[in-house]
Amino acid sequence: MKFRFCAHNNWTTLFNKARNLIATQRAAASTAATSAMADIKIQKTKLCIIGSGPSAHTAAVYAARAELKPVLFEGWMANDIAPGGQLTTTTDVENFPGFPDGILGGELMERCRQQSVRFGTEIFTETVSKVDFSSRPFRVFTDSRTVEADSVIVATGAVAKRLPFTGSGDGPGGFWNKGISACAVCDGAAPIFRNKPLAVIGGGDSAMEEATFLTKYGSEVYIIHRRDTFRASKIMQSKALSNSKIKVIWNSAVVEAYGDGENKKLGGLKVKNVVTEEVSDLKVSGLFFAIGHEPATKFLDGQLELDSDGYVVTKPGTTKTSVEGVFAAGDVQDKKYRQAITAAGTGCMAALDAEHFLQELGLQQEKTD
Ligand code: FAD
Ligand code: NDP
Repeated sequence: MKFRFCAHNNWTTLFNKARNLIATQRAAASTAATSAMADIKIQKTKLCIIGSGPSAHTAAVYAARAELKPVLFEGWMANDIAPGGQLTTTTDVENFPGFPDGILGGELMERCRQQSVRFGTEIFTETVSKVDFSSRPFRVFTDSRTVEADSVIVATGAVAKRLPFTGSGDGPGGFWNKGISACAVCDGAAPIFRNKPLAVIGGGDSAMEEATFLTKYGSEVYIIHRRDTFRASKIMQSKALSNSKIKVIWNSAVVEAYGDGENKKLGGLKVKNVVTEEVSDLKVSGLFFAIGHEPATKFLDGQLELDSDGYVVTKPGTTKTSVEGVFAAGDVQDKKYRQAITAAGTGCMAALDAEHFLQELGLQQEKTD
């Protein structure tokens, strides 16, 4: 079960505190190491990996086992997310193979990190602020060091956008992770949503896909959209609109989320019609944001080709970007699947693509195993 309450929430708070403490200690250790090496301005590597989610660590495990001795920047609260990426912001992950009883997102990522380190990945708890891909070796900059790399894997992920209305947060009085989520595929199967009315905010392909997916679990699914037309593709719209469990609430915005009787999980929403300004009550047990994601690509400063939504463009079937020797993996280049296992899969691909690239440059021997 993904959503748990009471004792579990206390446990989650403790877990988060512990995680933040570990991250702080790592940052301090990293800073101390940096001062000790203050005269070493430039570090060379065959492969630099930027990011710390499942794609970055899978790439690191493969690259380290191929003896590329990768350097990995895991970030320090990059995009307001702890090292380890998006999964550190959730509780149980139940759809990652190998964990039949589920695993806490933070624990899964700590294990991934340990596996990267075990095979020799050098990890810095620093955020990459800029890159120079204009010539090889590529240069990757943080506030305290520069890495010169023959190849680079960008695995900086994305952040699901959320709306800041009353009751939507994760602090006191908020229902984030207590009925409010930004990932129907991840959370939709939780028992608290079974045969209950649910709602999705958005009017794009994600909203159509998530609403359709949620009809498997909810008694009915409301799509709340701020305009009177969807931007979603016609095919996705008609699939959603022909589903008898889906109802659309047009021209509307959620202004408040409130609790159930005990105020421990979501009980309903106040929804405002933006044309008439009338506010109505909608009883739902689940609310899913589907208002887009923000890929973490600003630090690239236009040096890789991005699509119109800011995602890194990769050559289909590969992780190759517009710059030879630079590869991209995970959510930063995937706006469709956005799952831990797909991120890990493309991380593996990126490491193999990088290894092949280095072999062609004569910088890496043919694989022997
Ligand atoms: P991310 O997890 O996005 O991590 C990238 C990280 O890299 C960033 O968070 C940051 O720490 C670091 N970084 C970013 N920029 C820089 C920089 N400039 N320098 C250095 N470091 C940087 N998927 C599932 O399969 N199952 C689930 O149950 C599930 N639950 C989810 C619950 C929530 C609340 C969310 C938000 C997502 C969930 N997902 C789930 C989706 C899953 O988390 C993502 O698909 C996956 O984490 C993407 O991995 P990634 O490797 O692309 O990077
Ligand atoms: P989109 O940016 O396409 O849509 C976001 C939706 O959220 C829009 O309808 C937008 O409203 C609404 N929205 C944005 N901000 C707010 C806000 N502050 N308050 C209320 N509503 C808001 O994002 P998607 O994630 O849907 O899609 C991203 C890309 O991924 C697209 O290219 C899409 O085609 C693709 N995709 C493809 C899929 C597939 O092929 N199976 C599945 C999922 C995504 P408005 O329309 O008024 O701007």
